[in-house]
Amino acid sequence: MHPAIRAALLALATLSTTAHATLEDDARTILTYGPRVAGSPANEQARTYLEAQFRALGYDTRRETFTYPRFDDLGSDVQVGTQTLTGRAMQDSAGGTVSAAVVRVPGTGTPEDFARVDVKGRVAVIMRGQLPFLQKTQNALSAGAAGVIIINTTPGELRGTLGTRTALPVLGVSPTTGSALQDGQTVTLNVRVQDSDVQATNLIAFKSGLSTPTMLFGAHLDSVPGAPGANDNLSGSLTVLEIARRAANTPIGARSYFMLFDGEEDGLLGSRNFVKDNTALIGTLKAMMNFDMVGVNAAPLELAGTSSLLDTARTAGLPTNGRDIGRSDHVSFQQAGVPAVMFYRGEDANYHQPGDTIYDPQLVRDTADVALKLADDVLNVTPAH
Ligand SMILES: [Zn+2]
Repeated sequence: MHPAIRAALLALATLSTTAHATLEDDARTILTYGPRVAGSPANEQARTYLEAQFRALGYDTRRETFTYPRFDDLGSDVQVGTQTLTGRAMQDSAGGTVSAAVVRVPGTGTPEDFARVDVKGRVAVIMRGQLPFLQKTQNALSAGAAGVIIINTTPGELRGTLGTRTALPVLGVSPTTGSALQDGQTVTLNVRVQDSDVQATNLIAFKSGLSTPTMLFGAHLDSVPGAPGANDNLSGSLTVLEIARRAANTPIGARSYFMLFDGEEDGLLGSRNFVKDNTALIGTLKAMMNFDMVGVNAAPLELAGTSSLLDTARTAGLPTNGRDIGRSDHVSFQQAGVPAVMFYRGEDANYHQPGDTIYDPQLVRDTADVALKLADDVLNVTPAH
């Protein structure tokens, strides 16, 4: 073998080994911090770690902070005899402890259903379905109940939102927990909730001096309570880092912003705040690419979003799908008039669960390949400014 070819092959091998190790090391380190709930120490640790990676690649970084109110379940349960069965406080539920007999409300908790039982001062146990959670709760309150438990109709825990503050503690439980609640049995319902102001932070990486980016690559770094968020959405965050790494000394790197959004799980708040606070900057964007759950192949990689950008992707032979594949941070940009697409590999079985601990670095690399190809095409049809 010619020495020059050998040297080139060796360099290539080293390069790919390094890239491989880096992605895996990044994930391993970040996952040890725990669920990256907005406002939590783990969330900040992950951002600090990734910020250092962007800086090591030669990017400047900037943080933009914002504050929002959030309702938190601090750990709620129902005690049956000596057993403590966990559940989830319904969002907007009152907090409180109620020790009283269980009344299994027939049907789904309509006023007629409540008329057939006496729930006064008791814990009303109602099946999910037919009526909104709030209406079931209001019917229970009108009938004099002291607390409400709503049982899921599909396997797993029930996380729900009432939408309006209620005077009753309301717990959502799994069918398994629900089946342990016998009519007439005394239970203790503990709903522990708190209102807090979340201090959230977006991280932005860019080449020094760039104030009119052509493209923006983004992903949310925050996760839901109890879920380590390997696929949702460390996979997307690491895709953004991987793109930044490969683009570091290219026109794409020179003309793009790389962002890790906070507060996505609380309502796309990071991207909404960024769009609101940076109207001049987002006016120069030709494309926003969002990465959310790209590390597990629940379905093959798809792109969805603004049709002009999907046309560019389709012309380049990239996978696109017209159907709406979920709300994520690209929506904030689309609403502000920026062409935006979301990269997505479907909802895996561990979505928002404690089991979201695994992602495939190769799928992250593959996603970065597709994004860079689309970025090339966007740059080619867009004159420099
Ligand atoms: Zn997500």
